Amino acid sequence: KRLEELNVADTTCGYCAVGCRFDLYSDGEEVLAARPTAEEDAPVNGISTCVKGKFGYDFVNSDDRLTTPLVRDENGEFRTASWSEALDRVAEGLGAIKDDHGGEALSVIASSKATNEENYLMGKFARQVLGTNSVDNCNRLCHSSTVAGLAQTYGYGAASISTEDLELADCILLTGSNTTEAHPVLATRIKQNVRDGADLLVFDPREIQIAEYATQYSRVQPGYDAVWINGITRYIIDNDLYDESFVAERTSGFEDLAESLQEFTPERVEEVTGVPHEEIVSAAETIADADRCVFGWTLGLTEHSHGTENVLAMANLAAVTGNLGKPGAGVSPFRGQNNVQGGGGDMGPLPDNFPGYQDIADDEVRAKFEDAWDCEISPDYGHYTTQMFLAADRGDLRGMYIIGENSALSEPGVNHAEEVLEELEFLVVQDLFVTETAEYADVVLPACSFVEKTGTFTNTDRTVQMVKEVMEPKGDSRPDWEILQALANRMGWDWDYDSTAEIMREVNSLTPLYGGVTHERVESEGGLQWPCWDEDHPGTERLYEEEFNTDDGLAHLQGVGFSEPAETPDDEFPFTLTTGRVLYQYHTGTMTHREEGIMQYTPSDFVEINPRTAAEYGIETGDMVRVESRRGSVTVPAQVTDRVGPESVFAPIHFAESAINRLTDEEHLDPQAATPEFKVSAVRIAPA
Ligand code: SF4
Repeated sequence: KRLEELNVADTTCGYCAVGCRFDLYSDGEEVLAARPTAEEDAPVNGISTCVKGKFGYDFVNSDDRLTTPLVRDENGEFRTASWSEALDRVAEGLGAIKDDHGGEALSVIASSKATNEENYLMGKFARQVLGTNSVDNCNRLCHSSTVAGLAQTYGYGAASISTEDLELADCILLTGSNTTEAHPVLATRIKQNVRDGADLLVFDPREIQIAEYATQYSRVQPGYDAVWINGITRYIIDNDLYDESFVAERTSGFEDLAESLQEFTPERVEEVTGVPHEEIVSAAETIADADRCVFGWTLGLTEHSHGTENVLAMANLAAVTGNLGKPGAGVSPFRGQNNVQGGGGDMGPLPDNFPGYQDIADDEVRAKFEDAWDCEISPDYGHYTTQMFLAADRGDLRGMYIIGENSALSEPGVNHAEEVLEELEFLVVQDLFVTETAEYADVVLPACSFVEKTGTFTNTDRTVQMVKEVMEPKGDSRPDWEILQALANRMGWDWDYDSTAEIMREVNSLTPLYGGVTHERVESEGGLQWPCWDEDHPGTERLYEEEFNTDDGLAHLQGVGFSEPAETPDDEFPFTLTTGRVLYQYHTGTMTHREEGIMQYTPSDFVEINPRTAAEYGIETGDMVRVESRRGSVTVPAQVTDRVGPESVFAPIHFAESAINRLTDEEHLDPQAATPEFKVSAVRIAPA
């Protein structure tokens, strides 16, 4: 068929949080094509998208899609069921635990792939219908330490910049971000700016592709990021290269910070991190010379047992150099899932916050939500996602409702996660497919994808954009919001939403940050950046132009010390394993493994091994290698490459048959954000 004969929707990408926009075409049964939206209507991506945005739609059309609910029969096998039977089973299963043990024995894992409106309802469902504050999402596994660190220093836990600032900066510091593969369109914009003369500093344990463009690439020992960042900040302060007027007028705690940094001399930093002291000095001078610097990072900085400290160190550096609240300058944590900024945080499916980061322990705030939702809400914080699995071990948590999250592969220490899922008294999973997690469920509810529903996503620079239905839900699948509504009503409530626009109006009324973010405005203005306080507010391109979102309007600097990873290499486990993503795959593969074209490029996980190490062990590219930690082992093909240093190995996270999280550690969590230490595990290797 010709494109003009097909249904078309101008929508937002359902993969990563760059938030690219394009037109999707469908004949009503399948997605047939994606074409970039006109450049002026696509503020984030212009006319470019990456391979996933262009071609990654086979998963929507897949025959594996769940098209009807599944329930366990008397033999423990799945059988198909009507919606009515399945919802009854869920209401009964969750209701029985609530009656016997209280709502706190239940938890909800919400989905950062779902829309803002749906995530708002997931939080509301947990608190109002189930009576639990244990509702969380995948942000706990990635950027929750970013949110904790930035919120403490500046007041908001989000990127301060707009995406275009990546092209306005004179200097960009990137760390723990394989930008080319994880955020391809942002990488394109950064590279363009470098071609135009900007400096690029890359600090990373792997010499990733974007390092080819760097003015300076420094290899760091995984797990010591706060140390090299502190080293740079110390050098800048000690040599009077900091922004004195910004520090004097817009920050507090500078003297204490300066004192706390004294031990971070370039030589001491070199000893701890492996970064030559000259490189600390040259990076500091490059940043200080720049008028406008953006500090960008991803999970290499945050997925640590001290991830919040790493972020606090970065927040100090940006503030003492005055790089906040002006064009081409600021902090930019690149978010992962398409809607983890909005759905995973802003909409409040969180154990400690209502929508808009309103603290549940605040009596006035809680009263507002109790009144609106007509229920009592405990002021006690619930369990974070990572803590839910530990709480279930103790018997404190007995039932889970997991929406669009593949915890059986994505949790740290998945051998442990599998045991927990197996032992739960009741598990309901809502997804597009029978995922590895759904295999443990009592009931599986078929959800539909972002091309089969309408709502909003919020991208990595706080822009709320429309997602539009281009085809009817496949089979008997339903949008998450409709499933939640049906279930809430089964469990005694009276939800009566006609559309996600109506849900968003409820969000507007309860969430000052989103006060003016209506569907009508998002649609007509092509996107709105929060904070957007009311109907007349234009949205906020850059945070902190005038003041920080703290009690006194100042950035609160605070020193952080030498923190070590929870597990360091030793004689038994002599290498540090780091993990990450590759361009052609996405997370646990539920979507990309169903893309024939994409699968040709990366058909399995692998382990990157430095040539020196490989020679020592007699390993060549393609050989099968057993990688083992104290918690488990996997066998994967080797890629011998000097992309990694001789002390480290790297493996991606995408395949169940080599689930790399069998090796990671579920117990050592960041004390403030409960983020696991995915980026540092001590391992040994051997030819398989
Ligand atoms: Fe989608 Fe991210 Fe690729 Fe853009 S860069 S097309 S948002 S996956």
